[in-house]
Amino acid sequence: MSTIPMSAEPEADRYGMYRTTILCWRCWCRYTAYAPGEFADFMVFYCDGCGACRVASDGEIGRAKRKFLDVHYPSIRGWGGKKENEQFFRVFEERWSEQCSCNGRFRSRAWPICPRCHAKPIRWLSWGSNDVVTTPPIPTLKFSIPPDYANAPGRPSLHPDPTITFVPGPLLDVATAQAQRAEAAQESPESRRAFEERIVMLIQERLTSWTSRLTQVRLTVELGPMPIRREATKTIPYASEHSLIVRREDQLVETIQFAIYHAGRRAATETEFTHWLDRTLQLVTEGKLVSKLVP
Ligand SMILES: [Zn+2]
Ligand SMILES: [Zn+2]
Repeated sequence: MSTIPMSAEPEADRYGMYRTTILCWRCWCRYTAYAPGEFADFMVFYCDGCGACRVASDGEIGRAKRKFLDVHYPSIRGWGGKKENEQFFRVFEERWSEQCSCNGRFRSRAWPICPRCHAKPIRWLSWGSNDVVTTPPIPTLKFSIPPDYANAPGRPSLHPDPTITFVPGPLLDVATAQAQRAEAAQESPESRRAFEERIVMLIQERLTSWTSRLTQVRLTVELGPMPIRREATKTIPYASEHSLIVRREDQLVETIQFAIYHAGRRAATETEFTHWLDRTLQLVTEGKLVSKLVP
């Protein structure tokens, strides 16, 4: 698949890495493996046929992985999980990246085989140092992203986390907020719990009434795990954070997070709140990513 021709003199660089000396259990030769340190921004690949080493930057690998996810997992935000990672590296290592001159494939996350007899290394026949050493020049791993991946439309970005902040009315001035915070401190934990339970009930009620419209567009929306209480700030005495999880046939579409500021007299009325919630669900059924609509 890869169409990049291998140059006779690949560019090579020296890196700071941890060095491990491996003793081959079969032919007793000694050879060296290098591993990036904790803060390194590159990955090391070893040929599964001869143990040759290549290095690729995290940025380059990330660019390739993003393209892979754009095509195969358009509704995943971020980097996916273990399964997606394994699928990506299988495709990347077997099709996108250059082949070794020995016809082997460069693999990440694997120790190099013995360069002499090609035996697999055994971990306890190795010893490493905790110091970062300068490696001999290591060539860069060449790869190409096929055009059908490179030109695929990108997914919406995950960073920063999608957040909707539901602010009922203008924020308080500091003096009023302080007064209300003092007032809120007097409030019993029961009354806060009652407030949160009321909010949860309102959300469930709206979700139930939207179920059939959501089902028509193959969506499910559920309330996320228990609300998180937020610390008071200078202008907000007290808040609880909730989330709505939007799924299309088991695939996560988006998570809409919102905070309810419970600020005594300034707390949202139920009418304001349910109006906002209905509007949000309306946008969701229209196929809009609500969390993307917020600047
Ligand atoms: Zn090789
Ligand atoms: Zn050997």
